[in-house]
Amino acid sequence: MNIQRPSGPEAAAGKFPTYHDGSGWNAMLPVRARGGSTHVRRFATIVIGGGYTGLAAARRIAELRPEEQVLVLEASAIGEGSSGRNSGFVINLPHNTKMAGHTSPVEVARKQIRLYEAGLKWLEQLVREHGIDCSWNAAGKFHAAAGDSGVESLRASLAQYREWGVSYKEFDRDALRQKLGTSYYRYGYHSPNNVFVQPAALIRGLADSLPANVVLLEGEPVVSLSESSPFQIATTQARYVADRVVLANNGFAKELGILRDRLITIFTYAALTPELPEAELKKLGDAPEWGVIPANRLGTTLRRVQGGRFMVRSAYSYEREQSPADTLAQLTDSYRRRYPKMKSHRFEYLWGGTTALTRNGATYFGELRPGLFASLGCNGAGVLKGSTYGKLLGEMALGSQSSYLSDALSLEGPSWLPPEPFRRIGVVSAIKYQAALAGPER
Ligand SMILES: Cc1cc2nc3c(=O)[nH]c(=O)nc-3n(C[C@H](O)[C@H](O)[C@H](O)COP(=O)(O)OP(=O)(O)OC[C@H]3O[C@@H](n4cnc5c(N)ncnc54)[C@H](O)[C@@H]3O)c2cc1C
Repeated sequence: MNIQRPSGPEAAAGKFPTYHDGSGWNAMLPVRARGGSTHVRRFATIVIGGGYTGLAAARRIAELRPEEQVLVLEASAIGEGSSGRNSGFVINLPHNTKMAGHTSPVEVARKQIRLYEAGLKWLEQLVREHGIDCSWNAAGKFHAAAGDSGVESLRASLAQYREWGVSYKEFDRDALRQKLGTSYYRYGYHSPNNVFVQPAALIRGLADSLPANVVLLEGEPVVSLSESSPFQIATTQARYVADRVVLANNGFAKELGILRDRLITIFTYAALTPELPEAELKKLGDAPEWGVIPANRLGTTLRRVQGGRFMVRSAYSYEREQSPADTLAQLTDSYRRRYPKMKSHRFEYLWGGTTALTRNGATYFGELRPGLFASLGCNGAGVLKGSTYGKLLGEMALGSQSSYLSDALSLEGPSWLPPEPFRRIGVVSAIKYQAALAGPER
């Protein structure tokens, strides 16, 4: 397999993400040669984090300033961060619209939709222009519910869709069984606002097609960052200086002293089956590729993947990765309950990944201090958000202005979180409470 795990005392201290197992998506791809090297120590811009956000920011800055070199410092290997560990739903709808702030939720949602539409167009153009082979498929997504409260929650979401002018089609149990091959779900809907990708292939393709004036260093985690410009940046290998810094390491920014009272890191887990024989694939409904988002935040995501594999994503843990044995038991149970007739419920790959949550579901976007730009707090749906906000952050860092940038800056920021140990107690109890509420959606 294709895993490169950072180690050492900083890894042990949780300064950057480390995992029990590599991403299944990345393991299915050919071994990738690592990024570049450099003897230069001073840069106009350094980007911390090589996920969707960081690579989008680096690309944009490099495009706008072809005469400058941009350095990206990534703790792990491209494809092994959360950008290569997710479920591969590129969703161009807001996931959290119940934010307070200056505008009403409808206005907030419309702004977000406009931002995501522009982001999706940009991402699709990059995929086409650079021939990124990431199984891009604009197949839309299902949302499905097995229990009463799940059905109620989906109906409430549809009321929002109507307000926003988003189209959808409803499905009853029989119609869902036809599509998905399971009678587990009572009710659901399909919306066209989603593209499926092989996420590790996408992030690798984005990294491999960066402009020539971007230097990408992998396996080089940042362990400290000074307060002001010129910024002194120490990695486990070297020291660098930058006039401006883009922070794109999501929840791990707090380990560098940033937004400690706004961000939490939550792990969630996914697994992929081996390629299934035709007779087994028939049990997964009649569409060759589909995905289901659960009706509860703590529910189970499913995806039938091009090429005949099946993916299950479920379970959460606070700040630390749970044991692979617990993950295997939970994901197997979710799979078996929905598809009791499969011959086997064996997975070939099983892994965990981090997401960064905020209390009110808002992402931090903007300039934290002069020269220090950040987009942090993906709230579990950052494939498109990261790409969109990363590009805008790159533009902002160079002083560009646009109505998209003004919209992104007008959205509410993350709210305050209590310090430890109250935070842990609060989050762990909320996970337990939500998990109980999720019931059959788990
Ligand atoms: C199992 C799972 C399923 C998911 N499914 C979906 C989905 O279907 N759709 C969706 O939109 N979102 C999904 N997400 C969330 C999605 O993966 C994230 O929102 C997205 O990756 C955020 O992109 P990012 O670039 O902001 O952060 P990341 O992808 O986390 O990238 C940050 C990078 O910074 C690096 N880093 C961290 N600390 C340091 C440091 N100190 N120095 C240098 N580098 C550092 C990390 O290694 C990482 O590569 C899922 C997440 C998981 C875990």
